Amino acid sequence: MRIAIVGAGPAGARLAHQLSENGIEVLLFDAREAWEKPCGGGVTSKALREFEFLRDGATPKQMISSLRLITARNRELTVAPRYDFAIYSRKELGRMMRLRAVNAGARLHCARVENTEFVNGKWRIETGDGDFTSDFLVGADGASSVIRRRAGLKFEPKDFAYALGWHVKTDRIEPRVDVKYLDEFSGYLWQFPRTDHISYGVASGYQETTPARLKAKLIEFIETQDAELARELKTASGNSTPRASFYAAMIPSLDVSTWDRLKVCDAKRAWALVGDAAGFVDPLTGEGIYYAIKSADLLARALVNQVGQVGQIEDFDEMWRAAFGAELRRAAELQDRFYRGNFAGAPLTERMVQFARRHRGVRETLRDLVAGDQGYVGLKSRLLRSALSFT
Ligand SMILES: Cc1cc2nc3c(=O)[nH]c(=O)nc-3n(C[C@H](O)[C@H](O)[C@H](O)COP(=O)(O)OP(=O)(O)OC[C@H]3O[C@@H](n4cnc5c(N)ncnc54)[C@H](O)[C@@H]3O)c2cc1C
Repeated sequence: MRIAIVGAGPAGARLAHQLSENGIEVLLFDAREAWEKPCGGGVTSKALREFEFLRDGATPKQMISSLRLITARNRELTVAPRYDFAIYSRKELGRMMRLRAVNAGARLHCARVENTEFVNGKWRIETGDGDFTSDFLVGADGASSVIRRRAGLKFEPKDFAYALGWHVKTDRIEPRVDVKYLDEFSGYLWQFPRTDHISYGVASGYQETTPARLKAKLIEFIETQDAELARELKTASGNSTPRASFYAAMIPSLDVSTWDRLKVCDAKRAWALVGDAAGFVDPLTGEGIYYAIKSADLLARALVNQVGQVGQIEDFDEMWRAAFGAELRRAAELQDRFYRGNFAGAPLTERMVQFARRHRGVRETLRDLVAGDQGYVGLKSRLLRSALSFT
């Protein structure tokens, strides 16, 4: 069986690695060389524990031992994650994951997939590098996936968040992440240190506000960290400056109803989706690297188990739902309440930080939640137990 994978980000590169290691012929396509994709690059301790290559590899990463949460009213809480997490440059991460796939036997083509067609039980794939055929097609082509649309799966504007920010070169790196909540719209601002630059960003619901408003909010935040940089960004003639490169991108953030009807594979037409293309991102935090890699592992397991019997591939829908679907659906359910809800007369995020400063149990729950060590299912009962125990 030959499998074609469109997109060599974390999802596609991991899938190519897993399939090749199991003796399957893999064609892996990406329109670009490994690149600095718009992304915080944050890899949670949950991901580091589960995927050894992320934890132990030689690729440079910034380890993080401190996390500062700042509310819209500037209340602050600094917590130390139970386990350190990592911030990767996406270019470095991409390069390492592609190399692993190629070393395992995948054939990587740096070419845009222009068209795909399913004829007589085979996929025909047209690229700038020539035409190819395969028995199975995987869309790992990110948030704006063309393969998803061709497969007939439609995400609505309510299924996306929008993010923008700057990657800023600097040699002043502190191993601390800042996250600031907002009161005007859902989402948050961040400052993620990498090995040689800082990623500043802001994300909110798609079309919830204007890019100009998001940009102004982010510059206001940067001003509290680096006044000179804020001045530079305000007076720049374009969006970027010599040391700060601007980015803007969509992030899948699926609505509850979309999670309920989501099917990301089809045995008859021999296709499947993984990673952002499938919408596998935490709607509350925007974490997607873990789910890209995890979904690739699950799809590889479904495909490898069924070599020559692609008909059983539909197991994949059950597998991802069991592994993380309920969690991500729960995050979608909580999203509105988390960012827009009020509790005892103040925004929930204000109260959360206020409580966490007073109660160790709430503080530990919050720390685990942000580090990816506390799931959403069961969160409410742990918070209630913690708040009531007054430790
Ligand atoms: C601003 C921002 C901040 C984020 N921060 C974090 C974070 O800190 N931590 C985290 O875990 N997640 C974060 N995410 C989410 C994370 O970036 C994604 O979930 C992750 O990259 C998904 O991996 P993927 O392989 O599915 O897709 P991608 O990484 O998007 O890879 C898709 C690949 O497909 C290629 N491609 C697309 N179309 C074609 C085509 N037609 N032909 C050939 N190739 C094609 C692209 O070139 C790309 O390389 C963030 C996202 C954004 C936008």
